[in-house]
Amino acid sequence: MDKMRGVVLPGNSTVEFRQFPVPKPGNGQVLVKMKASSICGSDIRAIYREHLGKGPEGYQGVIAGHEPCGQVVEVGPGCKRISKGDRVVIYHIAGCGVCEDCRHGYMISCRGAQRAAYGWQRDGGHADYLLAEETTCVLLPDTLSYVDGALVACGFGTSYEALTRVNLSGTDRLLVVGLGPVGLGSAMLGRAMGAQTVLGVEVASGRIELAQKLQLFDHVLAAEDSTVGKIMELTAGRGCEVSIDCSGAPAGRELALRCTRDWGRCAYVGEGGTVGFDVSQLLIHKQITLYGSWVTSLKHMEDLLERLERWDLHPERTVTDSLPLDRAADAYRLADEGQSGKVCIVFED
Ligand SMILES: [Zn+2]
Ligand SMILES: [Zn+2]
Repeated sequence: MDKMRGVVLPGNSTVEFRQFPVPKPGNGQVLVKMKASSICGSDIRAIYREHLGKGPEGYQGVIAGHEPCGQVVEVGPGCKRISKGDRVVIYHIAGCGVCEDCRHGYMISCRGAQRAAYGWQRDGGHADYLLAEETTCVLLPDTLSYVDGALVACGFGTSYEALTRVNLSGTDRLLVVGLGPVGLGSAMLGRAMGAQTVLGVEVASGRIELAQKLQLFDHVLAAEDSTVGKIMELTAGRGCEVSIDCSGAPAGRELALRCTRDWGRCAYVGEGGTVGFDVSQLLIHKQITLYGSWVTSLKHMEDLLERLERWDLHPERTVTDSLPLDRAADAYRLADEGQSGKVCIVFED
């Protein structure tokens, strides 16, 4: 087989199928047969509807998909760790490898000219095969499925990083604002990391229903005028020690701060847009530490995979729609509607 199908996003809420040559792995590269490749909110926000992304989110017309997981079928010269047959999650950014951020494993933050993210500046996972740098491959534990792995490649990695950054522990109650896939992931992982009480807030009715069905939260609240009051009631008037905004919406970000307990920690993870709030009242006088957190590091991705196996947790539970590659148009439409859980493209055999 020398040709493969790949999905390109023209930027007008459609998908386009094209034929590509199956790539040959060069030095330090491997060829991965795709098994699962999920859709991220960023794909919708910055590429699918229109090409809005700039810099690291600038889309270069490549094969889409930055949450790839599959099996190595060919190994190029000079590879040191990954072998044919290995099941791998792809950390979705290949950095320069030598800058400070890359050396810390945060290739997401690399500013080198060579930095390229799969599905943004180099071919991604919505194709039969993906050409990956060995340095971006993370071994998938046997007990995790390929879909589990795809979800770790961006979304669950992002949730895990934020919870790690705020040092979530068993002394904390956790508030998650915005219950899309990253919000669901934050609840699942937050509980495993020790949070005794996990509260969620969401606008979309479909997502509220899903969050309730998955039983990841103690309480799922609809976002309305009385929400702050309800959260205060549920926390003896104090708010949550840790809150995380996954909504990316100004109102969600403000709610997260407002419902963070004095001296608590709040992380902003949801991308895009702006926020305005009374800084003295909501941040300074409450003595809150506010974090920004972007994706994760290679090391934390490896840690997360190991822990998911140990915790017997499966991100796949948050998938509501699994579709084959030839139904990529339906997959993107579903993800765009914002009522579902995770949407994942899965490959046969
Ligand atoms: Zn993403
Ligand atoms: Zn770098």
